[in-house]
Amino acid sequence: MSHNPVRPWRNIDRRESRRIMVGDVPVGGGAPISVQTMTNTVTTDVKGTLDQIIRAAEAGADIVRVSVPDEASAKAMKEICRESPVPIVADIHFHYKRGIEAAEAGAACLRINPGNIGDEKRVAEVIKAAKDHNCSIRIGVNAGSLEKHLLEKYGEPCPDAMVESGMDHIKILQDHDFHEFKISVKASDVFMAAAAYQMLAEQTDAPIHLGITEAGGLMTGTIKSAIGMGNLLWMGIGDTLRVSLSADPVEEVKVGYEILKGLGLRHRGVNIISCPSCARQGFDVIKTVETLEKRLEHIKTPMSLSIIGCVVNGPGEALMTDVGFTGGGAGSGMVYLAGKASHKMNNDQMIDHIVEEVEKRAEAIENGQVTAQAAE
Ligand code: SF4
Repeated sequence: MSHNPVRPWRNIDRRESRRIMVGDVPVGGGAPISVQTMTNTVTTDVKGTLDQIIRAAEAGADIVRVSVPDEASAKAMKEICRESPVPIVADIHFHYKRGIEAAEAGAACLRINPGNIGDEKRVAEVIKAAKDHNCSIRIGVNAGSLEKHLLEKYGEPCPDAMVESGMDHIKILQDHDFHEFKISVKASDVFMAAAAYQMLAEQTDAPIHLGITEAGGLMTGTIKSAIGMGNLLWMGIGDTLRVSLSADPVEEVKVGYEILKGLGLRHRGVNIISCPSCARQGFDVIKTVETLEKRLEHIKTPMSLSIIGCVVNGPGEALMTDVGFTGGGAGSGMVYLAGKASHKMNNDQMIDHIVEEVEKRAEAIENGQVTAQAAE
């Protein structure tokens, strides 16, 4: 997918992992890196939860996780899983019964740590429920909730402790002949998470779910996630990811996609290339880009658009984009189509015009009439 014979410096060799299924979404084994998020509604508010899932799915979420803290939530999962447009992962902590109920309710995956749910009999029951209902499992190790014996052994949360915890959980599943699992070793500290993931990647061929947990608000969390996950993805590690932000789940999905887009690992929607603007700008670049980002949210076709303030960089950037606009003099600029200068357009009409051109181009790409300029 990211192998580019023309620009080899863009290649990323992805770690080979086993493939599992989360509902109808493949994870691992070279499948596209899926983007996940998690609802923050009360799960028993089925309508509110489904609304949020649908908004996240429209923004591009491939998989959505929902907390199942009690029996009433497990009951609500039935309708949620049935009506959701994407597979649902049930988030379970400690209560093995919730795991069984969620599997019965139609969850596509259980996020549960088998070592933390009690005795052998309980573990066997949850694994049987997962097998019976075609449910995969995500082992979710978190630096903040490591087992007591590991904290005593290592003194504090650290990558070795996290990986040991993960491998212990893996062993339990394997001992029960269960192999449909993926694993995460999350920490809010980017260094710890990155080291743990690298170590984990060497020790198992299970698909890896990436995350920098409790990363913070929209801005801080985005940057931390881009540094942590960006580095790991660049090394080829990661089969699915969730960006954790104290923000709307839709923002998590957008950030997840932007990280993948930035590395050329996945493409979705319009990739806008724009200059920071300066005294040379022929129109208000910042306001225009802000408006276009909103007006083009409905475009899912991978394609590119350059919005550049003046001729210093405009024609050069436009060469590699599907649609381009470069500011000029006297209240108008040049529209570029497929890298070539096409026609002039007044600044005051250019937003509607660019939206139209992008829509036309997206349709042509979808119909196979043209290829997106920067699809690779
Ligand atoms: S492209 Fe032109 S307007 Fe934009 S930052 Fe560069 S010089 Fe300034």
